[in-house]
Amino acid sequence: MIEINHLVKKYGDNTAVDDLSLKVEPGKIYGFLGPNGAGKSTTMNIITGYIGATSGEVLIDGHNILSEPEAAKKAIGYLPELPPLYMDMTVYEYLIFCAELKGIPKAERESSVGRAMWMTKIDDMRGRLIKNLSKGYKQRVGLAQAIINMPPIIILDEPTVGLDPKQIIEIRELIRELGKDHTVILSSHILSEVSEVCDHVFIISHGKLVASDSPENLSAGLDEGSLLKVKAKGEKSAIENIVNSLEGTKSVVFTDENDKEVCFEVELDKGADIREDLSIKMALEKMPVLEMTLEQKSLEDVFLELTGSGEQLALEAAELEEAFAGDSEETEEITEDADGKEEA
Ligand code: ADP
Ligand code: MG
Repeated sequence: MIEINHLVKKYGDNTAVDDLSLKVEPGKIYGFLGPNGAGKSTTMNIITGYIGATSGEVLIDGHNILSEPEAAKKAIGYLPELPPLYMDMTVYEYLIFCAELKGIPKAERESSVGRAMWMTKIDDMRGRLIKNLSKGYKQRVGLAQAIINMPPIIILDEPTVGLDPKQIIEIRELIRELGKDHTVILSSHILSEVSEVCDHVFIISHGKLVASDSPENLSAGLDEGSLLKVKAKGEKSAIENIVNSLEGTKSVVFTDENDKEVCFEVELDKGADIREDLSIKMALEKMPVLEMTLEQKSLEDVFLELTGSGEQLALEAAELEEAFAGDSEETEEITEDADGKEEA
């Protein structure tokens, strides 16, 4: 349905998209997940024909976005990072205008707009000026213009950015609804959003595709060797015997010990959970468990590992701190850079 082959986009020396190849099949909800600056918007702008690539190709239903832009664009509805809304139009006027732009015949415009408003639940707002709508409703109007000509593919760039929690839930609900009869690609820098809504996740970092899988597989593939940390009363050798008698344990390491308590860590096989059996067996031997925590690698860990964004954020924080300690001119420059995107 969408095929991207060796896509590259350079801005001067900066490579925003770096040899990206991926395929999108019909009927699923896909997520582009990556930290700010990863290249998500650039990729979406290329797929939708808004900007050209430096090299590589994009095929939409077999149509090359460069050589057959009309056919390719017909298949896609796009909600860019900044929705192209006309603030002084009413919702209805704006959508009729969009229908015209998208080449919907005059006789069908009214019904197309009606359907788009119904699907995005903005019927009640049809007579309102767009500038008077809340951010959540503006986003719905943006969604309505994206789906107005019933494209099989809908591409949404950070659709929940800047919305309050209630609006976020409503937009996610809407995306799930759209996903029932459209192929949806959305981008986000928020892990929970992507794992909650998407069937398949592409993790993008520094313009490269670093992972492509279902949210479940992404976290399952990396929860190997979860660690059970235990504090208990008892004899080391007796504890060792109990742990080794349980299935799914790899190793036990004693980390701390005094005359009252002993701390140990048990490395577990993927998916194994010995907490119940361990606590029962220890109790039977009169060795009470005082504390126990199971540390599993979360999707969060996977994401941070793959994108290195934890490091990046820490660096940014350090830079900011330094800037605030320095003179005010420098401070202004750096805060502006950091905020530029959010505010736009
Ligand atoms: P994301 O959407 O994942 O936050 P972008 O695609 O917006 O990332 O940006 C990827 C990289 O390309 C960033 O380093 C950004 O600064 C750079 N970039 C994006 N658009 C432009 C542009 N028009 N001119 C120069 N650099 C750009
Ligand atoms: Mg972006």
